[in-house]
Amino acid sequence: MCKELHSSSGKDICDAPEDAQARRAISPVICYPNETLPQPDLTLYQQARDGAEKINEVIVPPREAATFRVNAGQFFRIKSIEGPQVGDFNLWNAADLSERFYSGKTRALHGTHLSTGHRMWSSFPSLRPMATIVGDSLAWYGKDEYGGSVHDVIGTRCDPYTHQLLSGGQYHHCCHSNLTRALAKELGVTPAEAEPHVHDVLNVFMCTGFTKDTGQYFMKASPVRPGDYLEFFAEIDLLGALSACPGGDCSTVHSSDAAQCHPLLVEIFAPKPGALGTWTSPPQNAYDKSHGCHT
Ligand SMILES: [Zn+2]
Repeated sequence: MCKELHSSSGKDICDAPEDAQARRAISPVICYPNETLPQPDLTLYQQARDGAEKINEVIVPPREAATFRVNAGQFFRIKSIEGPQVGDFNLWNAADLSERFYSGKTRALHGTHLSTGHRMWSSFPSLRPMATIVGDSLAWYGKDEYGGSVHDVIGTRCDPYTHQLLSGGQYHHCCHSNLTRALAKELGVTPAEAEPHVHDVLNVFMCTGFTKDTGQYFMKASPVRPGDYLEFFAEIDLLGALSACPGGDCSTVHSSDAAQCHPLLVEIFAPKPGALGTWTSPPQNAYDKSHGCHT
């Protein structure tokens, strides 16, 4: 029903055409059918993981971020400890920070939330799997009655700029700033030099969706509990950064010190030599990069 919207010509811009119903009734098609994606050999990964040894761990303090490095062929586990806590996760090619996690394309390929068997894809022009999810203790959650699910690739990361825009304050422990500080420390550069490398995240343990009426991004209390984890296989040499979000379990607010926050643990595991058989890192995308310019 048209209300009060009018175009400059005075004609209602929301006048529906006669065949509106028919146009709306057309069935959708999947933008990126993913049956042709190269599939990870989860059985091989599981066998390698079974004999793997823990070689390192990193604690991410509340309202801070920490970095870690994982070699191709190793595993890393992000684990809840002490209490419900959401993590904002960035990932780079350890040898070339211009290749980094591409949240939007990962969403287009796998959907809004990730779980076992899904992969974190890298930016153009590489577009290859950086990491494969091999274990998810929250897989049971599925989709709730609000359309919410866990581990999303739809949010971007809490950041001081949006906070300033909406609330007018200066807050320095948003995930964007935490990731910036941690990366600057890791690389030995200034925060200004590190900041452009920070990118849209995988929201580990966060429970999110879109409201049915307005389509707005929502969050709700994460179902994560101490002991829960999300585990990955590193497809290439990786530099990771994980922020323990100031939103805590993201049940109420973020971008402030109001929420109760907890640390997160990152554990790294190395499989036994030879456990991966003939497995090799995936190559960069095979597109020729000419973009139609044949000179
Ligand atoms: Zn955050």
